[in-house]
Amino acid sequence: MSKDKLAILGGNKVISAPFKRYNPIGTEELEAAKAVIESGVLSQFLGAWHADFYGGPKVREFERMCEAYFGVRHAVTVNSWTSGLIAAVGAVGIEPGDEVIVTPWTMCASATAILHWNAIPVFADIEPNTFCLDPAAVEANITPYTKAIMAVDILGHSANMDNLLAVARKHGLKVISDTAQAPGTYYKGKMTGTMADVGGYSLNYHKHIHTGEGGILVTDDDQIAERLRLIRNHAEAVVGPKGEENLVNMIGHNFRLGEIESAIGIEQLKKLKNFVAGRQRAAELLTAGLQGLPGLRTPLVEPGCTHAYYMYPLVLDVEMLGLSRAVIMKALKAEGVEGLAAGYANIHLLPMYQKKIAYGSHGFPWSSDICRREVSYAHGICPVAEELHEKTYIGFAMCMHELDEKEVGLMVEAFKKVWTNLESLRSHFAR
Ligand SMILES: *Cc1c(COP(=O)(O)O)cnc(C)c1O
Repeated sequence: MSKDKLAILGGNKVISAPFKRYNPIGTEELEAAKAVIESGVLSQFLGAWHADFYGGPKVREFERMCEAYFGVRHAVTVNSWTSGLIAAVGAVGIEPGDEVIVTPWTMCASATAILHWNAIPVFADIEPNTFCLDPAAVEANITPYTKAIMAVDILGHSANMDNLLAVARKHGLKVISDTAQAPGTYYKGKMTGTMADVGGYSLNYHKHIHTGEGGILVTDDDQIAERLRLIRNHAEAVVGPKGEENLVNMIGHNFRLGEIESAIGIEQLKKLKNFVAGRQRAAELLTAGLQGLPGLRTPLVEPGCTHAYYMYPLVLDVEMLGLSRAVIMKALKAEGVEGLAAGYANIHLLPMYQKKIAYGSHGFPWSSDICRREVSYAHGICPVAEELHEKTYIGFAMCMHELDEKEVGLMVEAFKKVWTNLESLRSHFAR
């Protein structure tokens, strides 16, 4: 049997051992957590107007460190980035029935954060190169009810912030950055996530750095920062004693991050730069190795940008290949390539949006008076995002792996083997 015979057709596979999993947690985090446990104070927050309304020593230390790291006036930690997104939408003053333009190519929480304030998500299409919101599509979706843009720096690459901010300025809109997947990256010399009215990062286990669960909000706006802190910590019980005049969206939550998580976060943030650099090194090697394979587009990084490679995005030219993505995926998986995902779910196609039921059973908010026009979530409203999901996009979970040179080499070998045998794939798996 030839060693070149594809594994999917009975040959030997290229990769026989699983790739090394990524684990950013080390002894520094262990020591930091231990010290907090030994102190006996695992959270020092008070949900009342008191010095501890702003949290305990580790929360505050972590926040000051984030401010220095991201170069912002204010960092506000929260117990998840989903909580952070909800706080952000509330803090910029989004009202029931307001429309917020968001990308369909994201994790569901970017859009549900909008619904949490009974506002209406409007989905605009993405750019084919960055997979982030297309500023022209955003502008085409603006109505008299549009109040904000939720820009997501998806897969690890910044959205087109210059053009999105220009659209926002022209139409008087707020901008929120969901930078969960691109912490520590740059857009034209600025840190991704810091250019919007409010932005931030996830500290969930699946992200570059984590504290188990957690999130960091960043803003240069003093008022937004204080509103974030109120929403985080039972605002309605605090605004009176604090003497706040502005009661817009002052229903508070408990979005507080604990002391253990904050202590771990301090250690994680010190490592972020190296972790991102590790992903970049592996991605650049992989991209160099995959150059010249016909019908395979490796990641594009816009001038002046860096990529965190939360996912390593590949796009197939299925017409040119004469093969479906499913067959290519199966062949690669058979060679032992793990961590591949076909497509990236389009949020507007989830059942909740298709049926237009977010709260209760009567179609709230879309069926109610606060929703002032018919908003479409039909298949076809975001053709670029939909085609990538349905036909052409393959993502490799770069963030979940700690690929060394040898592993990247094996991955390249597996792709090359599949690409050398496209003809035999075509003969076995006619489209
Ligand atoms: C992970 C993620 C979130 C949610 O963050 P959590 O900390 O898990 O709540 C939101 N948006 C995007 C783009 C994400 O990748």
